[in-house]
Amino acid sequence: MSKHILVKMGEKNLANSDNKELIFLPDDPKANEIVIDLKNRPHAFVLACLMDRQMNAERAWSIPVRIMDIIGGTSIDALASVSLKEYQNIFIKHRLHRFNDLMSEVFYNAVQDIVEYYDGNAAKIWEGKPSSAAIVCKFLEFEGAGPKIATMATNILARDFRIPMSDYICLDVSVDVHVRRVMTRMGLVHEGCSNDYIIYKAREMSPTYPGIIDAPLWSIGREFCHSINPACNNCVVKTKCDYYKKK
Ligand code: SF4
Repeated sequence: MSKHILVKMGEKNLANSDNKELIFLPDDPKANEIVIDLKNRPHAFVLACLMDRQMNAERAWSIPVRIMDIIGGTSIDALASVSLKEYQNIFIKHRLHRFNDLMSEVFYNAVQDIVEYYDGNAAKIWEGKPSSAAIVCKFLEFEGAGPKIATMATNILARDFRIPMSDYICLDVSVDVHVRRVMTRMGLVHEGCSNDYIIYKAREMSPTYPGIIDAPLWSIGREFCHSINPACNNCVVKTKCDYYKKK
């Protein structure tokens, strides 16, 4: 069976990602430098992923750096010296998240866990070429991290940071509005199907690395496949899209 166009696009992205500049926070280059600094501040990346829940992703990813600015330090020791009560006050005062009470606790507990279980070095989560499942499990151990965040974080480590892993089999798609809309319009899944159905469809399409179609789906969703008036004429997958063919 020939590879689906989304799988081919994902493979091409992966092949080209070696020299790619990593930009998660396009509006704040200084903050971006901190969240991509896996060598010196791997905790910033882990904390950014844990904040990425039910709010704009860029705002969520900037939270660790905003907190570092507020407390005046970027190290895990500086973060670990802040009490839960202080984090609650910081989150509420600066309106960092939609769920300030809950997420201040998630943030505090994650910092404490990094100190206790990884000797303050969050890079131990992915060191030594572990399996994708092992890394997903480690993210799931953080309070507040469900499968979506755990697989998203592991997928970013594999795809963007090129962290060596012994396999990519547990890297599922992280279902969001873009993934759902593009897969539905292309005719790969049916309207209103469950998230699990989408995840299994991606596994069927790319059994050894299901999450490889995540980035193409996300960029097609952001660039072309708007909820109203999708820009089908410019879309890179229009020849394979049911919605476009029926137009
Ligand atoms: S062709 Fe149109 S409907 Fe299909 S994925 Fe592209 S933008 Fe969406």
